[in-house]
Amino acid sequence: MTAQMPEHLPFGTFFLPGPTEVRPEVLAAMVRPMIAHRGKAFEALYQRLQEGLRAVFRTTRPVLVSTSSASGLMEMAVRCAPEGPILALVNGAFSERFAAIARGCQREVDVLEVPWGATFDLDDVARRLAARRYSALTVVHSETSTGVLTDVRAVAALARRHGAFCVVDSVTGIAGAPLETDAWGLDFVLTGSQKALALPPGLAFGVASEDFVQRARAVPGRGLYLDVVEMTEFALRHQTPQTPALPLLYALDAQLERLLGEGLEARWARHEAMRARTARWVERCAAHGLPLGILAPEGARSPTVTAVTLPTGVDGGDVVRGVEARGYVIGGGYGKLRARTVRIGHMGDHTLESLEGCLGVVEAALGALAAPAARGA
Ligand SMILES: *Cc1c(COP(=O)(O)O)cnc(C)c1O
Repeated sequence: MTAQMPEHLPFGTFFLPGPTEVRPEVLAAMVRPMIAHRGKAFEALYQRLQEGLRAVFRTTRPVLVSTSSASGLMEMAVRCAPEGPILALVNGAFSERFAAIARGCQREVDVLEVPWGATFDLDDVARRLAARRYSALTVVHSETSTGVLTDVRAVAALARRHGAFCVVDSVTGIAGAPLETDAWGLDFVLTGSQKALALPPGLAFGVASEDFVQRARAVPGRGLYLDVVEMTEFALRHQTPQTPALPLLYALDAQLERLLGEGLEARWARHEAMRARTARWVERCAAHGLPLGILAPEGARSPTVTAVTLPTGVDGGDVVRGVEARGYVIGGGYGKLRARTVRIGHMGDHTLESLEGCLGVVEAALGALAAPAARGA
């Protein structure tokens, strides 16, 4: 154990929008002996995980478990999508990265872009889909860089009407924001372990519709490690094509049991309550001379992350450091929003009580910075 590594920070102080804080008992679950991944014990574990993951994704399809971060399954989705141009909806850093991944896989990509912090006009989406025959559309459910939530149910309905597969990055959505894979007809939906699922980083989870997998069979150059066809076939017999990250699966096993004990809908409600609490806090600060704002428009705010806009003269990096000096961690602004915003990741296993502590500390750090700024110092 190196001296520099904090061993026991109290739970409820780490509000980064990924990775998120992992409960000590979930971390402890990783410390178990290895088992053969081609044996009966593994298949039983995998089957149990499937039941929990299907409940989380609201699907009857197999849930793919990838030993990669979420980006691995973003790449799988575009590599395995049918040939033809892809339409990327871009409203922040992660949706922009989705377009970049598609280009990196030598796909032709058209972009429908709105300013960071905005959401999409569905009529614009419909017009773009009607103008050209796309094989797939990429969209980010909860834009972690801006805190904007997109109505992926409506986007998926439009994509289907125009014959394009709808590929959804719900990395900070699933397990925090309502999402219905089957009922909304999502063709490919993915998440990572280290966001609202509150697991250590290193796993990604995804669901591909039967239609998507069938069409993928005809796609050349799918590669091997991220082949949706092979991964689905193995998942159906409770195995993974390659060696799985067993310790992370043990943590997943423990976390799914906790999560289903809470209930998925109760978990969604807890996240919505944390979003609303953060919004009320911003309003109260603004009413008391600390002019904070929320980047995302009302009605399109993610229940898992809030990007808070700062008063003129207050730098996001200074706020993050002030919060850190008070024993808490929040996220800085992302990319071009670095100076103007900070991000509070109210997701995973946080509660209204732990959030209260965080907001108090952010307010104290802001108060110390905004006072000299207001005096023109
Ligand atoms: C974190 C995140 C990603 C990237 O996930 P990795 O696990 O780092 O690959 C993609 N999309 C969104 C919306 C994210 O929040």
